Amino acid sequence: MTFQFAIDPNAEQRILLAKCAGARRYTVNHHLARVKANLDARSAERESPSESGDLCEPSTHSLSWSGFSFINEFNAWKNGESEDSLVNDDGTRGLAWRHELPGDVFECASVDAARALENFSASRRGERSGTPVGFPRFQAKGKVTPSFRLRNRATPGRAPSSHPIRFTDPSHLRLPKFGPVKLFGPTRKVRRMIYLGRFHVYSATVTQRAGRWTVSLTGVAAELHQAARSRTNRHAVPVGVDRGIISLCVAADANGVPFECFEGVKTLKQAQASLKAANQALARTTPGSNGRQRAKVRLAKTHRTVVNTRRHLVHQASRALVDRAQVLVIEDLNVAGMVRNRHLARSLSDAAMGELSRQLLYKARWHGVEVRVADRYFPSSKTCSGCGEVKTDLDLSTRTYSCGTCSLVIDRDLNAAINLARWRPNGTSAVTLPAPTCALLLSTA
Ligand SMILES: [Zn+2]
Repeated sequence: MTFQFAIDPNAEQRILLAKCAGARRYTVNHHLARVKANLDARSAERESPSESGDLCEPSTHSLSWSGFSFINEFNAWKNGESEDSLVNDDGTRGLAWRHELPGDVFECASVDAARALENFSASRRGERSGTPVGFPRFQAKGKVTPSFRLRNRATPGRAPSSHPIRFTDPSHLRLPKFGPVKLFGPTRKVRRMIYLGRFHVYSATVTQRAGRWTVSLTGVAAELHQAARSRTNRHAVPVGVDRGIISLCVAADANGVPFECFEGVKTLKQAQASLKAANQALARTTPGSNGRQRAKVRLAKTHRTVVNTRRHLVHQASRALVDRAQVLVIEDLNVAGMVRNRHLARSLSDAAMGELSRQLLYKARWHGVEVRVADRYFPSSKTCSGCGEVKTDLDLSTRTYSCGTCSLVIDRDLNAAINLARWRPNGTSAVTLPAPTCALLLSTA
């Protein structure tokens, strides 16, 4: 669970934020350089035959890539305790500016570097699905999003008021070495959850996007109160949720009754249009000019608006759905496969639907709602919800579904939502529903 706030740092804090983001890049690059040098040395030794003429194991030892050993190595290095530690002008050893920053910036960066290397080696061993992962990139200033993470290293059982990351008042969050940092927006909910012991902050991630710094508080939340988990007035029949074209998504139950229709595509379209305008304005500027800098800022801000608008709309929809339904059926979206879609409204609702399923899955877990995921090949749009006839072809532009067999005429998205609501894991859709015992079931248990 994550709470995100925009922050309003003072001049001093702003400098420290930039330093921390720089320290993260520095630490990650330190580890990558070390590992790369080690790999190169070993492969060079492996290729050059020894005196006896046979290929032998390299004499340079391989490094441990664990986060734990990375932390230890970097701590020793920055504190001047390693053989290869820096020697400063005044004769002291170690990283001179290490005390200005929270030590956790270095430790979390070490863990991140270890994780990136683990992804790389898992991919090389063939243990990782998806696109192959190469050797992690070195973090160049200006190329990577400025960001760093701090853990809330608190002794278990100690009051939240003693934690290194804590709210000092309704609008200020204390971060180690930063002191109280001003936050934008209402913090009442998260403060209340922390106060009641219902939310424990694990870490704070601070990120700069489009010139604005935000902090994300990540942690574990206690289960919702039983009353919120088991509402008595929930819809008993499974509810199917389909992405709409005119609307964000359309929900209907297995009896064919429309459940809810969430608008919002128009708002998204408007945001998208201003994004396009900002993009074109950027293209007209001269590289390196002040105008280009301004156009870049404008583009980034517009982009942020699009993302925030979509997130807001999708949060509303997902909340309404988990509040009212007991069983939700969604499509398994092959998100990577549908990124390119020339139909603007369609691609917008595709993107929103990907976010919606993500939110539905975690919110459903809190509220004790069951979410079933229909397989990707289930013909939810092409099946007639009246008689079960499956059309071989259905154009995207066809707004209504008209059945040749039972002469049903129904809104296309509504038809798809009804079919989803009736989806069963073994393939065929049926009006009589079996007990929920499917392998794809993502329930609360
Ligand atoms: Zn029909």
